[in-house]
Amino acid sequence: MGYLLGIDIGTSGTKTLLVDPAGRIAAAVTVEYPAYAPRPAWSEQDPEDWWQATVTSIRQVLKKARAKAADVTGLGLSGQMHGSVFLDKSGKVLRRAILWNDQRTGAECDAITQAAGGRRALIRMVSNPALTGFTAPKILWVRKHEPRLYDRTTKILLPKDYVRYRLTGEFATEVSDASGTLLLDVKRRRWSTKLLGLLQIDRALLPEVYESQEVSGRLTAAAARATGLAVGTPVVGGGGDQAAGAVGNGIVRRGVISATLGTSGVVFAHADHVETDPEGRVHTFCHAVEGKWHVMGVVLAAGGSLQWFRNTLCQDLVRKAKREKVDPYELITAEAAAVPPGSDGLYFLPYLTGERTPHADPNARAAWIGLSNMHTRAHMARAVLEGATYAMRDCLEIIQGMGVPVKEIRVAGGGARSRFWRALQADIYKQPVWTVSSEEGPAYGVALLAGVGTGVWSSVPEACDATIQTRQATRPTRARVRRYDVLYPEYGQLYRSLKDDFARIAALA
Ligand code: ADP
Repeated sequence: MGYLLGIDIGTSGTKTLLVDPAGRIAAAVTVEYPAYAPRPAWSEQDPEDWWQATVTSIRQVLKKARAKAADVTGLGLSGQMHGSVFLDKSGKVLRRAILWNDQRTGAECDAITQAAGGRRALIRMVSNPALTGFTAPKILWVRKHEPRLYDRTTKILLPKDYVRYRLTGEFATEVSDASGTLLLDVKRRRWSTKLLGLLQIDRALLPEVYESQEVSGRLTAAAARATGLAVGTPVVGGGGDQAAGAVGNGIVRRGVISATLGTSGVVFAHADHVETDPEGRVHTFCHAVEGKWHVMGVVLAAGGSLQWFRNTLCQDLVRKAKREKVDPYELITAEAAAVPPGSDGLYFLPYLTGERTPHADPNARAAWIGLSNMHTRAHMARAVLEGATYAMRDCLEIIQGMGVPVKEIRVAGGGARSRFWRALQADIYKQPVWTVSSEEGPAYGVALLAGVGTGVWSSVPEACDATIQTRQATRPTRARVRRYDVLYPEYGQLYRSLKDDFARIAALA
């Protein structure tokens, strides 16, 4: 039986899936590990924890499915993007990895932008602006603040690529995850020698770049002993968690896009050509589909806004939900549903932790605007849901404005569980939204990539067609579409009015 393994090195844990040749999940295991915040806004993890979680989860899925080593014909890796693992010449990890959500590199981002000759010049070189989460500014930070450690560094790897090194002994990455380092020439799908030169980073520090479905190495004897897999099992490139998750949702053709409402909100579109936003409001990365790209807008607190609202203002509903054994979010959305579209003039800006798309403004803050004495908590709840969904529409509109068509929207993440939030999305996006059959995300996507790389399917779109179906459509209602079309531009205007105030407030704090 030819099983495929998909492994996702996430921030809270590693999720491993064993998938059968028909695309069905034979076993799934998640092993968690800690993250460390040695200072405020710093975020680190121990790469050894990723490796141990990988080993444990592989052993457990094999056991659960009663699969033998020889049954597994291919393995794909996914993981949190942007993290950096520094290795010395013996392959030893030199310090904890600095993660995607670490914010220490503001000065390094400025230095990179300057070295490149400005923001627009940088975007022309690597298709994206410098953001604190990306890998390149982390490399500069370590070089400046830990120079002795930097001198001993011979390789710098992304999280999943460190696990690949432990599995295969190879230093390799693939185009989708490499795009998030800020060092990849995204257009040509290879390291940007130009930017590496300007930043004086030695190319030899970086691994080889593969396409996502290509075999990047094979299991070593030591890794086979540790995991219970067979020596020589092929390991394909895999993908960064967003690109791999998109493969797992079937976002592999022009016109098909996904709107994912997790803690953050992500609007992800496949692109046949490199499409960049000259203002850098959305990311342009290589897709995990050979020779294709994707554009992606990120709302930092989409579902996160509702989570904050639940935690701070809905403790009574949380208790009631516990008593009634229901999901507290269902009670909150039921309250919101009783209020008319537009929340009787109340708006919510969802910028609890600043915003990436469309504003790229770390100083932006959340606000309810328009509160009056007739408003209730139900209005506040509806305004939160509407505000987060308007922010997702901002991403959609930028992507459409770049000439990427939006023909079919697939919804995912915790927010897609809610019938109310699906309907609100359809009304605000002005299009039907679809749920899909697979809910397993990046680990599933890279299991499919492993299938493509080992000949089970001939291409990624073919793998997706064979395994992923759309399930249920939620259609927009004409009257509400008209209403939200009038309200949405006002939402955008509120940020513009407040932008300078946010900057002043931040300076005072
Ligand atoms: P994460 O991004 O942390 O992996 P999820 O994809 O599970 O998380 O999404 C969690 C978010 O989804 C919550 O913060 C909440 O906003 C939203 N959510 C989850 N369940 C529901 C629900 N039943 N109704 C509305 N929103 C929900």
